[in-house]
Amino acid sequence: SKIIIAVDGFSSCGKSTTAKGVAAHLGYAYIDTGAMYRAVTLHFHTHHVALTNPKEVSKALESIKIDFRRNPETGRNETYLNGLNVEDEIRKLYIANWVSEVSAVSEVRRAMVAQQQRMGKTKGIVMDGRDIGTVVFPEAELKVFMTADPHIRAQRRQVELLAKGEMLDLEDILKNIQKRDLIDTTRADSPLIQAEDATLVDTSFMTLDEQIELLTNMADE
Ligand code: C5P
Repeated sequence: SKIIIAVDGFSSCGKSTTAKGVAAHLGYAYIDTGAMYRAVTLHFHTHHVALTNPKEVSKALESIKIDFRRNPETGRNETYLNGLNVEDEIRKLYIANWVSEVSAVSEVRRAMVAQQQRMGKTKGIVMDGRDIGTVVFPEAELKVFMTADPHIRAQRRQVELLAKGEMLDLEDILKNIQKRDLIDTTRADSPLIQAEDATLVDTSFMTLDEQIELLTNMADE
């Protein structure tokens, strides 16, 4: 029978590509929760929402609708914010540089977790994020926690960004990764930690195909 697969871990470990591949293999739905926090960040950025003002944050959250729609040309799911395709915009560095601060706000987490739990009502999903196995679906049947050497993660990120035409210094990317790691692991509200029943996977020296195969096998067991 179909299960819930929770994939958590640090940025740029190959979580989303792996989760997507596993979902395709198993015929499951894939949900990218990082994209949801990124969409919130984009909205807060364009509307100049002050994170220190809880009323303003709550009001802004009420006016946000995030969903994923399949692009028939690529077959991929893309992120929509209030009906607009924001898939490319949310991947940019100015969003990456602010998203962890936005994600640390309790009201933001509460709203996103509630929506993610609703999305998981139909089993047969692979969800990737930071708190899926610990907070969103503590009852998930399979939990994986991904990690990798920060320098290797920065190199992977650089290649990814370059493919999108964004040329960035390795040092700047490394700084962004380390900054996000620090905020994600030290925030008061559901910090990034490995769930007790999650399997640790270090992807430093693994290819994406190997990661997909490993998780697919774990799901089959
Ligand atoms: O997965 P991705 O790198 O796109 O996530 C962007 C940021 O969103 C993370 O660095 C983290 O701060 C936040 N996030 C989170 N909880 C999640 C998913 C992402 O706090 N479940």
